Amino acid sequence: MTATILDGKAIAAKVRKEVAERASAFRIRHGRLVGLEVVLVGDDAASVVYTRNKAKACEEAGMRGVLHRMPASSSTQDVLAKVRGLVADASVDGVLVQLPLPKHIDTTAVLDAVAPEKDVDGFHPVNVGRLASGRPCLVSCTPAGCMRLLDETGVSLAGARAVVVGRSTIVGKPMAQLLLARDATVTIAHSKTRDLGDVVREAEIVVAAVGRPALVRGDWIRPGAVVIDVGINRNDDGKLVGDVDFAGAVERASWITPVPGGVGPMTIAMLLANTVQAAEAAVAS
Ligand code: NDP
Repeated sequence: MTATILDGKAIAAKVRKEVAERASAFRIRHGRLVGLEVVLVGDDAASVVYTRNKAKACEEAGMRGVLHRMPASSSTQDVLAKVRGLVADASVDGVLVQLPLPKHIDTTAVLDAVAPEKDVDGFHPVNVGRLASGRPCLVSCTPAGCMRLLDETGVSLAGARAVVVGRSTIVGKPMAQLLLARDATVTIAHSKTRDLGDVVREAEIVVAAVGRPALVRGDWIRPGAVVIDVGINRNDDGKLVGDVDFAGAVERASWITPVPGGVGPMTIAMLLANTVQAAEAAVAS
């Protein structure tokens, strides 16, 4: 079997079009743009690019995307004051603080200052708790994007054996919660898991979110499995690769995401979707 490639760019474009339609309907009905405010502290080169892309993506979807840059020397209090000001503004629907913050800043305090209803990254403990208890919430963008990719395959998740490799708060754990909420039988593997290959071989759905090139070997993939590769790594040749040995896995899987062009484009699309969801919820309440 050779897998069908799950084209994240094309699916993300579809999500962004849906978001643009909802944002336009919101503007017509409520007389203002859906608004996302992005806070960037410091000059980390990758973060500068990511935050600019987020603001630009908002504008392309007919939303307001504003980037607030703060010096690396800002204190926790400075950042808290900025975040609290944005949260208090009724015209602001989503507030995102770009991570990582400089080391001297209390990241937990800053993330907790983003009101749950404007927490479009889905990192606030209230959203994490609501997800764990199966209640509606804003869901972390990358796992939300993975679910959308899985939905595009049409493969039934109910009763399926799913293995999530990685247990971070941002990807692995919420991914497992989302799969569980859709009635998959979920195993979470991590760095202490024994015999990872045996665990992955059981899986009809594999989500790899580790950050190690080709950790998941092609011969571990159960024939016909769906493989979602979240990892973004540079291999020894400087090429971007995922956590799954793509060349091996593509011969066995039914569906597989490429890296780049799989999960990556979905993350920003789901950020836009979360922002419009937050705006719609704010006017409905
Ligand atoms: P973290 O470093 O926070 O978590 C990595 C997880 O992998 C941990 O749970 C760790 O286990 C586990 N792990 C490490 N080594 C092994 C191993 N040998 N076997 C099994 N599990 C292992 O990473 P993130 O979750 O933030 O990100 C994961 C990857 O996804 C990275 O490559 C990142 O760049 C990428 N990413 C991509 C995004 C996108 O938009 N496409 C967005 C976010 C992340 P333990 O808990 O025991 O330490």
